[in-house]
Amino acid sequence: MVGPQPPPVANVRAVTPPDAPSTPPTAPAPPPATPRTVLVTGGSKGIGRGVASRLVQAGHRVAATYRSGDVPDGVLGVRCDITVPEEVEAAFTRVEAELGPVEVLVANAGITRDGLLMRMSDDDWHTVLDTNLTGAFRVARRAARPMVRARFGRIIFISSVVGQLGSAGQVNYAASKAGLVGMARSLARELGSRGVTANVLAPGFIETDMTAELGEKTVAGYAASIPLGRLGAVDDVAGAVEFLAGDAAGYITGALLPVDGGLGMGH
Ligand code: NDP
Repeated sequence: MVGPQPPPVANVRAVTPPDAPSTPPTAPAPPPATPRTVLVTGGSKGIGRGVASRLVQAGHRVAATYRSGDVPDGVLGVRCDITVPEEVEAAFTRVEAELGPVEVLVANAGITRDGLLMRMSDDDWHTVLDTNLTGAFRVARRAARPMVRARFGRIIFISSVVGQLGSAGQVNYAASKAGLVGMARSLARELGSRGVTANVLAPGFIETDMTAELGEKTVAGYAASIPLGRLGAVDDVAGAVEFLAGDAAGYITGALLPVDGGLGMGH
């Protein structure tokens, strides 16, 4: 059970104004995307894999980091642990050699190590912060110089709705995800005049391995509080990343874009 269902189509028809055209006007075809060189961290599964796949289909040159597993067809896979500075450097060097300088960075790799505050170890705190926040900082710092040189760049951080809402048992994770907002907004101010944007995407409850670890009760609780009445799909997030990476988002920077079915609205 994932909450209330959308209204039946018949109800939607009933509120159509009488003077509405009988056939919808033909929408103009979207302009072709400018192909960009994209690097997605954590592209082996879940959201990162979905993002890499979708951006390749949209015509971009896409590389993705992995630690285990593989990356989707058509994507250049680069082994990289974002907590190891040398591996980050080597990954960028390889992408630059094979696909050109990174124009769009999707800092997606992330982990959870949940536990209540009073029982959380220093290691659980440091590991999550080092991956989710410092790892994102490492890749953004490495991406920035070539972007500034090119006078073009898009940095997209994958945060989480809990970065704004908070979440019992996730002080480390929520702090790391909230930190991405301060980082992105500082980068937006620092790099905006050089044509580089920095935005944050805050997914809600998306069906991936990460959320599969949550108990049935937690899942049911989330579903009941999502206005759209369903959990999110990986492609819901990938579509928003495609938008932020694309030509249409050129005047958007420092934004926090929720992709959460309304779960986190109100702040
Ligand atoms: P998954 O656990 O499915 O995937 C996480 C990815 O991050 C994997 O590809 C993993 O690689 C990679 N990763 C983890 N640690 C490192 C590291 N040190 N170095 C390099 N790569 C690493 O998670 P999701 O797809 O669900 O989550 C992706 C992002 O979206 C995360 O930042 C998460 O916080 C965020 N998010 C997810 C939500 C959800 O509902 N699923 C909701 C809100 C935010 P490997 O497996 O090879 O180690």
